[in-house]
Amino acid sequence: MAEKGKKKLSLSIKILIGLILGVVVGYILQTTGNEDIANNYIKPIGTLFLNLIKLIIVPLVFSSLIVGVGGLGDVTKIGRIGGKTFVYFLMTTCIAIIIGLVLANFGNVGGGFVLEGIEDLAYAAKEAPGFIDTLINIIPSNPLQAMVNGDMLQIIAFAIILGAGLLVAGDAAKPVFDVFNGLAEAMYKVTNGIMTLAPFGVFGLMTPVIATNGPEVLLPLLRLIVICYTASLIHMLVVYSLAVKGFAGMNPVTFIKGAFPAWAMAFTTSSSSGTLPLTMKCAEESFGVPKPIASFVLPLGATINMDGTAIYQGVCAVFIAQVYGLELGLTAQLTIVLTAVLASIGTAGVPGAGMVMLAMVLESVGLPLEGIALVAGVERILDMMRTSVNVVGDLSAAVVVTKSEGGFVEVQGDISA
Ligand code: ASP
Repeated sequence: MAEKGKKKLSLSIKILIGLILGVVVGYILQTTGNEDIANNYIKPIGTLFLNLIKLIIVPLVFSSLIVGVGGLGDVTKIGRIGGKTFVYFLMTTCIAIIIGLVLANFGNVGGGFVLEGIEDLAYAAKEAPGFIDTLINIIPSNPLQAMVNGDMLQIIAFAIILGAGLLVAGDAAKPVFDVFNGLAEAMYKVTNGIMTLAPFGVFGLMTPVIATNGPEVLLPLLRLIVICYTASLIHMLVVYSLAVKGFAGMNPVTFIKGAFPAWAMAFTTSSSSGTLPLTMKCAEESFGVPKPIASFVLPLGATINMDGTAIYQGVCAVFIAQVYGLELGLTAQLTIVLTAVLASIGTAGVPGAGMVMLAMVLESVGLPLEGIALVAGVERILDMMRTSVNVVGDLSAAVVVTKSEGGFVEVQGDISA
């Protein structure tokens, strides 16, 4: 047991060491003018790690969600758990964006910014789909194509439909269910193997970010970063703490501690989908969330629950309005609440997706899309924090839903390597 406890602690600590080393080495390389070393030799380690993760995402999400839905045992449960999960996601996202807007307004986020060099980067507008398209596109007309394209929202929709079909078909479909169950089990094992490499991956990802975006590049946008980070921390430490305490009776400190490995991973990869394997591991091993619930809530959350992204989009909209000297009235800010909720749902759990969807928010209130160029410089720094919030939010949902289903939420300490 002691042996196991010792082993359990090590993955978090190793990830933390990888992260700190990445910052230190990145800073040294940047100050000595050796960014090339970071980009040419250290970055490939991170890229390799990300490729390994990307490799498992589709089979992992697909099989685990089918098994999650198909294993719920009772078709009415899908509706019940799905309903609770969706309401929780929606409510926390609304609160997130309101916190973001309040802080951005009172903190005068764009105040004192000198507008220069904004012409080069308005590409995001072309890529952002509209409202209706986002909704319609959820159901794939060709599920295989959705998998080939890695369209997570469509893959999730298909997995839920197929899982429900297997559930209703019962014994007749049991062999197919068993195949997906076996695939899911195999993917969990592969995931575990890949996770042991996380400390190296985190180091490989962190170093070039710091080496390329040295502190002085960030200075003009420091206020934006501080406000996004403050709103994110308030949301994580207050809203999620209240939620796990109020709905699941869990000590918030225990929650944050148990969620830390996923948080650290999200911070460095800037990808909810990429963090998903570790998020699932945290939910099951740190909090004792039953596999069917983890397999249902977390892949769904990694795709549609983006509280950090909603905060970012709200704060950036106010920032852009202010630096362009435009007024954002109450109606405009309410529109931002609505569009940011939808935009965050439509945002894919991959790095930079939230910035593309920011175009949708800006357009809804008539703000210049060129403003995206302003925030693009610090995109990665902002993405790191918003992805952390996204992932911790998913974990809080898993804990709350488990408790509401009469499940046993317990903390079993840190997760194992
Ligand atoms: N990178 C974020 C995530 O994976 C999405 C975003 O860009 O906002 O959760």
